[in-house]
Amino acid sequence: MAQLIDGKKISKQIKDELKEEVQRLGEIGKNACLAVVQVGNDPASSVYVNNKKKACAYIGIGSKSYELPEATTEEELVALVEDLNADETVNGILVQLPLPAHIDADRIIRTISPDKDVDGFHPVSVGRLWIGEKGFLSCTPAGIIQLLKRSGIAIEGKECVVIGRSNIVGKPMAALLLRENGTVTVAHSRTKDLKEVAKRADILIVAIGKKKFITAEYVKEGAVVIDVGMHRDENNHLCGDVDFEDVEPHTSAITPVPGGVGPMTIAMLMDNCVETMRTQEERS
Ligand code: NAP
Repeated sequence: MAQLIDGKKISKQIKDELKEEVQRLGEIGKNACLAVVQVGNDPASSVYVNNKKKACAYIGIGSKSYELPEATTEEELVALVEDLNADETVNGILVQLPLPAHIDADRIIRTISPDKDVDGFHPVSVGRLWIGEKGFLSCTPAGIIQLLKRSGIAIEGKECVVIGRSNIVGKPMAALLLRENGTVTVAHSRTKDLKEVAKRADILIVAIGKKKFITAEYVKEGAVVIDVGMHRDENNHLCGDVDFEDVEPHTSAITPVPGGVGPMTIAMLMDNCVETMRTQEERS
């Protein structure tokens, strides 16, 4: 029977640890405040934003909410982010993606100060990750490293295959696995013989964005499988990029969807917010 990697439980553990740390830092006068900016009222984005605000409240981090109309111009958004960069009461800035099509998301990401970049998307944060410097880590991949470590799964020396090379999941995932001394292969839509490549993996991370794409044929017997995907199936139930029923019997450990990777992203966002307080502590 495969070990079911419980992202809900592990994310709660992390949030509880952070809550204690925030209380301790608060007692010595260190506080954090996250600015959450949403443009337009995409219902999925509203759910994510609300969950982030709730997590802040649970941990004891202040949050400021900016709900801007869909018609907000790029210049107006840049001006708000610049104001937040300069605002000493704000430690972290999160601009909820996706942004409306008329706004250049890359420009907005680059406008956020790297010192307040709690999503870890700024090119400076990405560069710090690759050269092994301290900095904000991209939340979903950082959450996956926590899932593995806290489930007692060693990464060092393992064959790790990441399917997907997006800037928010695949690429930072590869960098983090490398930092943990895994032997890393990144596969993508131009990879030849994906099944053969995926079958090399001791740890297979799937971030392909295609419903139940990965079947048992892609998985080595006894591998650990982490499913980043998030979709609705034909019955409107949540499912991942991995066909769980088909793959699970062949794994030694696997994440479910929901309840695997999903809950970790917010936990690691909160960790990045607390990181801004730790930095204040180091500077003082
Ligand atoms: P994405 O930007 O669409 O990237 C998908 C990647 O998969 C691309 O690199 C693409 O290759 C590769 N790919 C697509 N079809 C392929 C195929 N047939 N064979 C091999 N590789 C293929 O997606 P993403 O943003 O990384 O997200 C991936 C999934 O994770 C989505 O389901 C998303 O909803 C989910 N997600 C979940 C969380 C969470 O917190 N749980 C967070 C982020 C994302 P090319 O580069 O060659 O096009």
